[in-house]
Formats: sequence, C-alpha cells, structure tokens
Amino acid sequence: MLSTPGRIGVIAALPEELQSLLDAMPDAQAIERAGRTFWVGHLQGRDIVAVLSRIGKVAAATTTTVLLTEMACRQIIFTGVAGGLGPDVRVGDVVVADALVQHDMDASPLFPRYELPGLGVSHLHPPVDLTARVHEVVSEALSPQALSVNGPLKDVHLASLGLGLPRVHRGLIASGDQFVNAAADCDTLRHHLPGVLAVEMEGAAVAQVCHDFDTPYVVLRTISDRADESAHIDFPRFVRAVACRYALVMIEALLRPDRGS
Ligand code: SAH
Repeated sequence: MLSTPGRIGVIAALPEELQSLLDAMPDAQAIERAGRTFWVGHLQGRDIVAVLSRIGKVAAATTTTVLLTEMACRQIIFTGVAGGLGPDVRVGDVVVADALVQHDMDASPLFPRYELPGLGVSHLHPPVDLTARVHEVVSEALSPQALSVNGPLKDVHLASLGLGLPRVHRGLIASGDQFVNAAADCDTLRHHLPGVLAVEMEGAAVAQVCHDFDTPYVVLRTISDRADESAHIDFPRFVRAVACRYALVMIEALLRPDRGS
C-alpha cells in the first residue's frame, strides 16, 4: 500500500523483531555503518533496508539519518513495543502514531515545555492520509479472521498469554530517554499530554529526523506493558510469541503491492 517509489527503511526496536524480518528476506546483504548493520534486500518485492534502531532517541536518530542519507530510503517504517497509557490501550494492542512528542524535551523558559527549539512545534505528525491507510491495513492484518484457525496468525495463542484480540488505536505517542514503569509517571504524562496513548523511547526522534528530511514515516507499536509497576506477562515470551509475529504481518501487509495506492 505504500505508494512511494524507492527504498523503504524498516527500523525494528528489538533484535527478535529484526530477526523475524530477516527470516523473510533471504537475499539480505549486510552493510556496516555507524556501528550498525544495515540489511539491504527485499520483502514483498519491495526494496528494503532493515536495521535495529538501538534504544533511545539519539540512537534512533542516528539510525534514521543513515537510512535517509547513505541508504537513500524514501520512506521509514518503525516497529517496536511500547507502554500503554491510554485508558483502553491494553497489552497486546497496537498503536499507530498520528502524532509524536518528546516528553523529556523541556527548554523552558526559553521555549514552551515540549516545544522543539527551532521548529516552533512540540508534536510532529506523519502524513494524515498515510496514517489513516496504515490504520486500516494494520486493522485488517490483525483482524479476528487473521488470528482464527485458518488465518496467518493462527499460531499466536493469545488466550494462553492472557491476552484478548488486538485492538488497533491511532493517536499520540510520547517518546523519551526513560523506561517508564511507575503509575505516578504515567499520570504525569497523561496530565501534560492529553490523549497520549503510549510511551516509548524512539518514535519522536525518528519523526524529527524524517521531518527534517521531508520524508514520510510510520510508527507502529505493540503494547508490551502498561508502563506501571503491575506485574506484566513474561516479556521475552510476549516479544517472541506476539510482538514479532505482529511486526512481520503488519509490515508485510503495508508493503504488499496489491493494496492499491
Ligand atoms: N530489552 C528489555 C526491554 C526493553 S524495553 C528486556 O528484554 O527486558 C525498552 C524498549 O521498549 C525501548 O525500545 C522502548 O521504546 C520500548 N518500551 C516498552 N515499554 C516501555 C515503557 N514502559 N517505557 C518506555 N519505553 C518502553
């Protein structure tokens, strides 16, 4: 469905997610840059560069910059996990970002809190028509049919992980160099950033680099935790059994050429 011609950079947040992409890219060739391995190959017939972002905003910004400059990517898709903040955003759901903010950006009193100095805004937005289509395609890729006994995700046993069917949300994602795992911090984020759905550590940095290079981007996050002290399901198992499977299915659906524009 992604109509932009040319190469697409696919950034994975976790090694397990990258591996599931690479398993589907048998022709991938490794190129080393900036201490990272960029995998150049094909997925769904599209020219792809897949790479691990590394954790945090600066790491993600470096990775994105190399994709856009040295690797000549014309579009970026980021896939990873995140903490759920929205009241209805549960573990196992997916959030498609339609806005991103750096929740730890605060140059006040020189600039209003959260504003990106020099850009004059706090929130960055991927193209509206793109996020609307991504929401539609991802919702279909993770539909109850896809998870049913005959679907491509039939081996994802949600009930055994205590999860319900995934819901796909579209809204604000907050990023910062902090792993959020306290209810009080979640309350602060919800208070200052009304409508925020999820918190993670890279998306808004990818957005800022793509904004600077005037390049469309998509940020997808599967919710792995509720960003509080609550005991959540076994993280490595969740990543392996759910997040990696969703990441590959979502990205393949987005790249599939039969989706029209
Ligand atoms: N590797 C660790 C977990 C990493 S979680 C482990 O195996 O336990 C950190 C990554 O997940 C970051 O890339 C971040 O973007 C995302 N993330 C998930 N939940 C988060 C939360 N509650 N707060 C911030 N980042 C979160």
